[in-house]
Amino acid sequence: MVNESEADWFHLDVMDGRFVPNISFGMFIIEAISRIATKPLDVHLMIESPDRYIEAFRAAGADHITVHYEACPHLHRVIQQIKDSGAKAGVALNPHTPVELLEDILEDLDIVLIMSVNPGFGGQKFIYRSIPKIRKLKDMISVMNTKTLIEVDGGVGLQNAETLLQAGTDVLVAGTTVFKADDPADAIHRLKTIGWDRGFLV
Ligand code: ZN
Repeated sequence: MVNESEADWFHLDVMDGRFVPNISFGMFIIEAISRIATKPLDVHLMIESPDRYIEAFRAAGADHITVHYEACPHLHRVIQQIKDSGAKAGVALNPHTPVELLEDILEDLDIVLIMSVNPGFGGQKFIYRSIPKIRKLKDMISVMNTKTLIEVDGGVGLQNAETLLQAGTDVLVAGTTVFKADDPADAIHRLKTIGWDRGFLV
């Protein structure tokens, strides 16, 4: 269904039961998905010490690898490690982490993922404080003139997609909105239609 839909990427949430309370799946499932997926695999690592697994996730088929700021004391090194693996590199921020902390690494990032719920479970309520964060990040990206994409993950739906796009979001991650819909392909289509003239990604 996703292959045939208008969605641009597969967003895959890896959870380790330590960085976040929940446990989801790891590289074996990603490898299985990569065998049939016809779109880039956007892998979001909600795990401790992600530097230990970058090459394994890349080998499993990850096209983009996003690590959490809060899980990486040596973030610059991990970002270089992701780039050396050949994947696009992203950093995710939990709701309490300010975007200003990315100032010295932003030009190295392909993606910044703003968590608009606390990571770990689907179906949570969108945290509206994320909107000014997105605006501020968009300003930082314009000033530095980088090509970094802003991705928003958590509580994204038809009710807030327009606001998110206006604030500067490039990529909407919509799990519950798509997969709990009666017609998931139509939910993707409706999200895409909201940003029709902006060329954004879902
Ligand atoms: Zn995610």
